Amino acid sequence: MREAGPGTTEPASLRAQYQSLATEAVLSTLLALLLYVALKVSVDGIRHWRAKVPVLVVGAGPVGLAAALVAVRSGKVLTLTLLDERPRAALLCRPQQIALDPRSVRFLLGLGVDFDNVEGCWDREHFFTKIGVFQEYLLSLLEQRKRQLGIRILLGTKFSDDFLKKNLASDWPKIIVLADGSCGESSTVLGISPEYIVESCNAYGANAVIERPDQRQVPTPEIRAHSLYFDLSAYGMDMSAMGQESPKPGFHLKIYGTFHDRYLALACPASDSKIVRFLRHTLNSSIMKNIFHQSFNAYKMDIEPRVNELTLHHIQCSRRLFEIMLSHRRVTAAFIEGDNVVVTVEGEAARVLNFDTGCGVNLGLRGLESTEELIYKVATAVDQNDIFEALAAKIQHSKQVAEDFKQYGLFATMFE
Ligand SMILES: Cc1cc2nc3c(=O)[nH]c(=O)nc-3n(C[C@H](O)[C@H](O)[C@H](O)COP(=O)(O)OP(=O)(O)OC[C@H]3O[C@@H](n4cnc5c(N)ncnc54)[C@H](O)[C@@H]3O)c2cc1C
Repeated sequence: MREAGPGTTEPASLRAQYQSLATEAVLSTLLALLLYVALKVSVDGIRHWRAKVPVLVVGAGPVGLAAALVAVRSGKVLTLTLLDERPRAALLCRPQQIALDPRSVRFLLGLGVDFDNVEGCWDREHFFTKIGVFQEYLLSLLEQRKRQLGIRILLGTKFSDDFLKKNLASDWPKIIVLADGSCGESSTVLGISPEYIVESCNAYGANAVIERPDQRQVPTPEIRAHSLYFDLSAYGMDMSAMGQESPKPGFHLKIYGTFHDRYLALACPASDSKIVRFLRHTLNSSIMKNIFHQSFNAYKMDIEPRVNELTLHHIQCSRRLFEIMLSHRRVTAAFIEGDNVVVTVEGEAARVLNFDTGCGVNLGLRGLESTEELIYKVATAVDQNDIFEALAAKIQHSKQVAEDFKQYGLFATMFE
């Protein structure tokens, strides 16, 4: 009988046995790996599903209210507190008209806004309403959800050092959304720099308002007019050489607001043309008033009254063309280390234009497009790295919003 040894051939049955043992070992390792992955995925899934954070929103302006609805929609909110220093009546009596552009309309539809139930009017896919009406509607949506979620709405309550000491000293929210407007000081309370970066939008503009107490305060579509030229020879400006100027400035005009508070915006892309230089540096403030007066009468709606010599004093306007600038915050999102709190600054508290176009609120809503992701990422963060990643993405988006506005914002709101 011959024994199997080195150099000898194993019998086929033994080889098959080894092979099946090896296959079994591979299979059981694979199975263990699969089980581990499945367990990890389901544990992570459960953790993600259960992860919820307390959120505080400061400011119940249009942006703060929309931010609160974004938080609700994220499904990641344990408790939601919304506070505004103004009492309810003062908050909701704002008569200024806002124009929600198609992108904002889509965003708001996603938050559950039913435009059929908001007083306003549609024109060219824009929705026109009053700020107070819009705020009241958003507030009512939040109040409807109050029962399902831990939502506290504290109107007439100021976010201050005192509020921090009394309410948050031991019980910090995980996320604070600061939407306290262009004059808000809440970031300073949290030790966040209030510094702004001021950048040119490469355009010049002027604003005017005509107050007509006898007119209606109902939402009205805006009027736009393009490629306007003004004959300023009566003011001593030599118009004879204007025809050779290249490129021609061509002004854009917008009339918006209610018939009661009629607003006008006049703008043109930055240029060094003679007429632009003249309007930028003239000391004669009646020139602008006359431009607005004539333009209003030429482009107003037929049913509204003209401005005449008797009502001219109702026009208040910029004295001359100024450079349109966007101020945006240097710090738009931050992490307060000791208290483990993520702060994001939104709306006019984050970026504001020195030129009114009647569309200011859209810029604020753009910033909120990344807020749900921030809340989700912070709620499901495993460690501080995840939080910093979430903050970096938010900061990047905030910068992009400002950059996009500088590049295209005036085109969308004024020039086309
Ligand atoms: C006179 C005027 C006319 C305007 N006209 C138009 C227009 O015609 N069309 C248009 O689109 N936009 C217009 N705007 C701009 C428009 O109001 C803003 O774009 C919009 O309101 C910005 O929304 P927000 O939520 O960022 O800030 P805001 O609406 O300013 O809201 C901020 C909120 O924070 C609250 N707050 C501030 N500090 C604190 C604190 N410490 N604690 C608690 N709460 C605090 C304030 O009470 C306020 O309610 C106008 C603004 C003004 C002032």
